[in-house]
Amino acid sequence: MASSPQRIVVVGRGLAGALVAWRFMQRGCRVEWWGDGTHSASRVAAGMFNPVSFRRVVEVWNAGAHLAAMRQTLRELEDALGLKLLHDVPVAKVFANDDYRSTWDDRWPQQHGVCQWASPGEELAEVGIDVLQGPSGVGRVHASGWVDVPALLDGMERHFSDQGLLQGRTWSVKDGLPEGADAVVDCRGVGAAEELAQVGVTVNPNHGDVLTLSTPLTGPGALDTAGHTVNNGKWLLPTEVKEGRQWWRLGATYSWHRLRSTPNAMAAEELRDHMVKALEEGGVEALRAARLEAHQAGLRPASPDRRPTVGPWPGQPKGILMLNGLGTRGVLVGPAMATHLVNWWLDGVNLPPEVQASRFKSVRQKVPGFQD
Ligand SMILES: Cc1cc2nc3c(=O)[nH]c(=O)nc-3n(C[C@H](O)[C@H](O)[C@H](O)COP(=O)(O)OP(=O)(O)OC[C@H]3O[C@@H](n4cnc5c(N)ncnc54)[C@H](O)[C@@H]3O)c2cc1C
Repeated sequence: MASSPQRIVVVGRGLAGALVAWRFMQRGCRVEWWGDGTHSASRVAAGMFNPVSFRRVVEVWNAGAHLAAMRQTLRELEDALGLKLLHDVPVAKVFANDDYRSTWDDRWPQQHGVCQWASPGEELAEVGIDVLQGPSGVGRVHASGWVDVPALLDGMERHFSDQGLLQGRTWSVKDGLPEGADAVVDCRGVGAAEELAQVGVTVNPNHGDVLTLSTPLTGPGALDTAGHTVNNGKWLLPTEVKEGRQWWRLGATYSWHRLRSTPNAMAAEELRDHMVKALEEGGVEALRAARLEAHQAGLRPASPDRRPTVGPWPGQPKGILMLNGLGTRGVLVGPAMATHLVNWWLDGVNLPPEVQASRFKSVRQKVPGFQD
C-alpha cells in the first residue's frame, strides 16, 4: 500500500461519492470529485433512515453500527459545512390489522433487538395524532429521521469547488486509473450498471417517485401529524415550515419496470390514494387539497441481495475501486460503507464478507481468481 497522502479520484456526485470523498479527505488524502451531471437518485431521495424493517418487524441489517456511523459522519459534515442536515423525526407505523399488531407486540416479551428502537403498540387516542385512523393502533419508532441529502450534496460541492477539487468530468472503467491518481472510486450508481454486469455485479435500477407537498399551518386544509412521519406502507414525512406553510414529502413508489428516471404521472394519485387510507376525514380532505410543489423520480441502484458492493472493481488493475448498490437505504448504510472502503484501502482492514463482490457466484464465474 502506498503511503499517505494519496491522490484519490471519486467519480459520481451522488450520496455514495460524497461520503467516499469526505472520508478520504478526512484521512488527509488529496481528493478530486468528478461527476458528469447525469441523473442522481440522491437528488430526489427523501433521505429517511429507520432501523426497523416494517415487513417482518425486525432490525434492519447491522442497524446499531450503521446508525452510529451515520450519526458520526453527519456530525462531522454539519460542523464542516455549517449546515443542519440530520433531523430526528419519529415514525408512527399504522398497523394494518390485529395480526400485525400481535407480531409487533410479541417482540417485547421476546426481548427482541428491535425493542431498543421502537415502542409497543398504542391506541391512536394515546399517541395524540388526531389526524390518523387505524382500529389496530400504531407502533412508534423513535430512532428514525431524515437527512437533507440535496443540502449535503450542495454543501460538499461548494467545499470541493472552493479548493478547486470539483470537476465536471465523465469517466468509465475503460478509462482506467486517471493520470497521477493512486486510486479511482466508481460511485456512479445505475450509471455503472452496464459495465458492472459484464463482470457479474448486478445493479438493478429501481424506479421511485416522490412528491413534495405543502399545506396551510392552520385552518381549513391544515394537516398535523404531531411531528411524526406516518407510515402505512407509503410514508408522509413532515420536513419544514417554509413560506408560511408546512412542507411534506410523500412517497414512494417502487418499480422494476420503469427504466427511466422521469416521473410517472400516475404515481401522484397512487401515493395520495394510498396515504388517505390512514387518515380520518379532515386529514383526507387536507391531503387531497395539499399543494403539489414537486413531483420527482429517480433510479435506486439496487443489488440482488440488498447489500452494497464495496472494494476492488472485479477484473481491473489495483487502484480501481467501487461503492455501489446503496438501494433503498443509502442514508443509513452509506456512511459505514464509505468508512469500510477507506479503511480497507488505506489501512488494509478486511472488508466485511457480505459486501465483497466475490460473494456473487456470477463474479467468481466471470472473473476467475478474483479476490477482494
Ligand atoms: C424516490 C426515491 C426516494 C428515496 N428515498 C430514500 C430515503 O428516504 N432514504 C434512503 O436512504 N434512500 C432513499 N432513496 C435511495 C437513495 O437515493 C440511494 O440509496 C442513493 O441516493 C444512491 O446514491 P448513489 O450515489 O449510489 O447514486 P446516485 O445518487 O444515482 O449517484 C450517481 C452519480 O453518478 C454520476 N454518474 C453516472 N455516470 C457517470 C459517469 N459516467 N461519469 C461521471 N459521473 C457519472 C451521476 O451523475 C450521479 O451524480 C430513494 C430513492 C428514490 C429514487
